[in-house]
Amino acid sequence: MLPALAAELGVAEVHALAWPEAGRLAADTRTTEALAARGVALVLHDGHTLLPPGAVRGAQDQAFKVYSAFARAARALGIPGPAPAPARLDWRPAPGEALADLAPDMRRGAAVLAAHAPEAGERAALRRLDQFLDRPVQDHATARDRIDLPGGTSGLSEALAVGEIGPRTIWAAARAVPGRGAEKFLSELLWRDFAWALLADRPDLPRANYRPDWDRFGWQGDGPQAEGWRRAMTGIPLVDAGLREMFVTGTMHNRVRMVVDSFLTKHLLTDWRVGAAWFDDCLTDWDPASNAMNWQWVAGSGPDAAPYFRVFNPALQAEKFDPAGAYRRRWLDPASGYFEAGSRAWGLDPAAPVRPLIGLAEGRARARAALAAMGSTLAPGHDG
Ligand SMILES: Cc1cc2nc3c(=O)[nH]c(=O)nc-3n(C[C@H](O)[C@H](O)[C@H](O)COP(=O)(O)OP(=O)(O)OC[C@H]3O[C@@H](n4cnc5c(N)ncnc54)[C@H](O)[C@@H]3O)c2cc1C
Repeated sequence: MLPALAAELGVAEVHALAWPEAGRLAADTRTTEALAARGVALVLHDGHTLLPPGAVRGAQDQAFKVYSAFARAARALGIPGPAPAPARLDWRPAPGEALADLAPDMRRGAAVLAAHAPEAGERAALRRLDQFLDRPVQDHATARDRIDLPGGTSGLSEALAVGEIGPRTIWAAARAVPGRGAEKFLSELLWRDFAWALLADRPDLPRANYRPDWDRFGWQGDGPQAEGWRRAMTGIPLVDAGLREMFVTGTMHNRVRMVVDSFLTKHLLTDWRVGAAWFDDCLTDWDPASNAMNWQWVAGSGPDAAPYFRVFNPALQAEKFDPAGAYRRRWLDPASGYFEAGSRAWGLDPAAPVRPLIGLAEGRARARAALAAMGSTLAPGHDG
């Protein structure tokens, strides 16, 4: 379609953002060849990440395995500014499909989703960035973990994932803001780059344990427990609240992502790939690199220095980061829309009691025993 369109418009070059993932690179090669056959060049630009994945390397030309060393080296290289906008851009808005037009095909849940539909487009993303840098960023270092309070984080991940805004634009604007909050915000953008650098180094990151030792760990596969987790019916309030938020809105607070990941992989001893696939189905900010890195980081099989034996306690996390229970009430309330948006085939009944899939203490003890057995087989220094 693209080569035909380029020929119809009589253009000599097609410019696009390079999306440096293995499958996508292969697709770009095919597009390059198809365009070249019609005398059109495909010009790919960096900018999906702050620095091209693979550009930040250690003294022995190796990829970094630890975030802090990666971040230091990336900052030392210097983050390029955003490319200038083209002097002239003739464009016509593509005919979009309004959610209301899609609703009849969705059968159910459209009204619920409409209430959470994000404002799409570059202008909206730039406005969100301005608003965040104007004031909330100053409290970001502490407020970023408060799941009950809106505005603690920028809410830009979806715009970044779909390319509505570039990370270099965000970096340049945030660097001009003094203070600890802005510094923390910049370091988070570097986590995203770290994930892409890991994916460039290990294209199988979304499929294989980053640390092959973990192939020996007895992860359980998909099954009734994982299904209970997917349906947000684990009986653990913070876990269910997070999974319901994601199902209805397509997003979930970072702190809650860590808690639901830990619950699945540690309390339920279920393979991180089962959870990562569900995030892939549900998240509007889904990103192959960030999703895989974070799932593995929490599960214990991943890069960086996260101690693999850490088991998040969802009750303590809730007490700390949702102290008055506002977040849990919002998403556990039958009026949250979850029961209307959820699949009818799941047979969910808001009035039916939800029994915990496993007690928190029992799940923790079982996980610690499995992790200790695993740990005794690992080389020293595994967790650092
Ligand atoms: C299990 C798990 C799965 C995740 N899957 C994804 C995913 O598929 N796509 C995705 O974009 N993020 C993912 N994240 C990271 C993080 O949760 C989201 O980027 C964050 O919730 C976005 O909110 P924000 O834009 O308000 O973040 P802010 O706090 O405002 O941060 C600014 C930006 O920094 C980046 N960032 C922040 N934290 C991280 C992180 N831990 N890893 C990588 N980049 C980060 C994001 O691009 C984010 O937009 C995952 C985290 C976990 C624990």
